[in-house]
Amino acid sequence: NQGLAQVDPEIAAVLDGELARQRDTLEMIASENFVPRAVLEAQGSVLTNKYAEGYPGRRYYGGCEQVDVAETLAITRAKELFGAEHANVQPHSGATANAAVLHALINKGDKILGLELAHGGHLTHGMKINFSGKLYEVSAYGVDPDTHLVDMDKVRETALEQRPDVIIGGWSAYPRHLDFAAFRSIADEVGAKLWVDMAHFAGLVAADLHPSPVPHADVVSSTVHKTIGGPRSGFILSREEHAKKIDSAVFPGQQGGPLMHVVAAKAVSFKIAGSAEFAERQGRVLRGASIIAERLTAPDVTGAGVSVLTGGTDVHLVLVDLRRSELDGQQAEDLLHSVGITVNRNAVPFDPRPPRVTSGLRIGTPALASRGFGDAEFTEVADIIATALKDGASADVTTLRARVEKLTAGFPLYPDLRQY
Ligand code: PLP
Repeated sequence: NQGLAQVDPEIAAVLDGELARQRDTLEMIASENFVPRAVLEAQGSVLTNKYAEGYPGRRYYGGCEQVDVAETLAITRAKELFGAEHANVQPHSGATANAAVLHALINKGDKILGLELAHGGHLTHGMKINFSGKLYEVSAYGVDPDTHLVDMDKVRETALEQRPDVIIGGWSAYPRHLDFAAFRSIADEVGAKLWVDMAHFAGLVAADLHPSPVPHADVVSSTVHKTIGGPRSGFILSREEHAKKIDSAVFPGQQGGPLMHVVAAKAVSFKIAGSAEFAERQGRVLRGASIIAERLTAPDVTGAGVSVLTGGTDVHLVLVDLRRSELDGQQAEDLLHSVGITVNRNAVPFDPRPPRVTSGLRIGTPALASRGFGDAEFTEVADIIATALKDGASADVTTLRARVEKLTAGFPLYPDLRQY
C-alpha cells in the first residue's frame, strides 16, 4: 500500500515537475484551465475502480448504486446548466463525443459541412485523415479573406450547393460569436441537422456571457476541460428526439465502460459552473482577452507587423496575426516560452507558412482567470506579450521573465498541494 513516491519515483518526479511548471509560468493555451481542488479529488478517487457499462438504472454490472448517483447528478446538472432536454456525460473526450454525434445523426457516406480546419475548425469536423473525413463526405466553409469572419451568406451558398446532411457550427480558433439562428435556418432550408460543437466557449455559455446554441441545434457537443474548467472529457446535449440515438452511439457505439471518476468530476464541475463565482470568473476571462486584444492592436505593436485577427475578440481567446511580423508562429511561441508564457502557435486563415511553423498565435485567458487574475494583472500580461512580440529577436528576455515571476508569485497555484 505504498504511495506514488515509493512505487514510482520517476512518475512522482514528473508530477512534481509539472506542478512546478504550472505554478511558475503563465498558462495561456486557450484550451487549457486549472481545475479546482474538488475536481482533482473526485477524479483521483476510488471511482476509477468501477465498471459501469450502460446508464444509471440500466447497467451491465452489479454494484453501481453509488456511481449511478454520480452520473445522475452530472446529467441533471448539465441539463439544468444549459437548458437542454437530454444530456450524455459519458464521452471520454471531445473527440469521442463528436464521433458519437456523427454516428448518431448520419450514416457512413453521408455529407457534412463544417468550418475549414485551416480557418479555425476542428479535426473532428471533417479533416481528411480523421474519422470524420474518412467516413463522411466533407465540404467546408471558410472565413472571409478580408474580415476573417464567417460569412453566413457564404455558408448558405455552400449548403445549397452541397446539400449536407449535417451542418457543423463550432471552432477551435475563432474569436467571435457564431450566428446560431442563421445556422438553424440554413439547416432547415437544406434539410440538414444542426450540430454545434461548443467545446471552447461552453463555460461562457454557462455563465450567460455568450449566446447559447442549445435552443437552435439538434445536438450540442462539448469538452469539460476548456472554459468550463473541469476534468479532461466530453459531453453531449440534445433534443429529446435524438436522445436514444445519442446514448447508443456513445455506448455501445463508441465506448465501453465510462470513466466514473471523471463522470463524478464532471458533476462537480457542472455544479461549480452554476455558481455566481463561476460567472464572475468568466467575466474576468472575457475582459482579460479584450485587454490583450486591445494592447496588441496599439500602434507600437501593429507598427512591428503584429496584429489581431478581426481586430479584437468576443470570447476567451485572441488570434495573433504574424504574417507581417519578423517572427513566425514557432519563433513567437518559443520567445514567449522563454519569458515564461505558454501559448500555442496557430495557423491563420490563408497562412503562407506551413502548418508546423504557422503565422499565428492563439492566446487564451481561462487558466489565468482561474488563477485569480483580473484587469490589472491582464493589463500587465498584455504588455509583457506586446513587448516581446514587437521587440522580437532583440526582446529583453530577462526583464520580461522577471515581470512574469512577479505575477506568478502573487497568485500561488494549488497552495495546499505538496510535492512528492
Ligand atoms: N472540439 C473542439 C472544437 C475542440 O477545440 C477540441 C479540442 O481541441 C475538441 C473538440 C476535442 O477535444 P479532445 O481533445 O478532448 O478530444
